[in-house]
Amino acid sequence: MQYESVLPHFEIKEGIQGVGVFATTDIPENTVLFTMHGKILNQPTRTSVQVGHDQHIEDKIGGRVNHACHPTARVNQADRTMISVRPIIKGEEITFDYRENEDKLANPFVCKCCNKEIRGKQG
Ligand SMILES: [Zn+2]
Repeated sequence: MQYESVLPHFEIKEGIQGVGVFATTDIPENTVLFTMHGKILNQPTRTSVQVGHDQHIEDKIGGRVNHACHPTARVNQADRTMISVRPIIKGEEITFDYRENEDKLANPFVCKCCNKEIRGKQG
């Protein structure tokens, strides 16, 4: 499959769950939104994204992506990319489900869509 990078096509602004990343253009399903770059830590932080066992990356954009139980994107840990899981319309927020990706969140929180506490894979 051929992925096209759409890195310039985002803005960071205030959203329903706080500051988040929003599409400024329509994006097809299965598109690499961006590749994450940065320091790899062995413990999660509030802004890290888990990319492997005990590997948590601090990326400027990835760290701004909010959780959603019905997300628009997912993390591909193997190549540290964020990929759209459905077509995203201009103005929609980029989100991923932290429970699919993070073993244990540094900062568990109550999800605004379902009112459940989101703690990570390990519950
Ligand atoms: Zn929810």
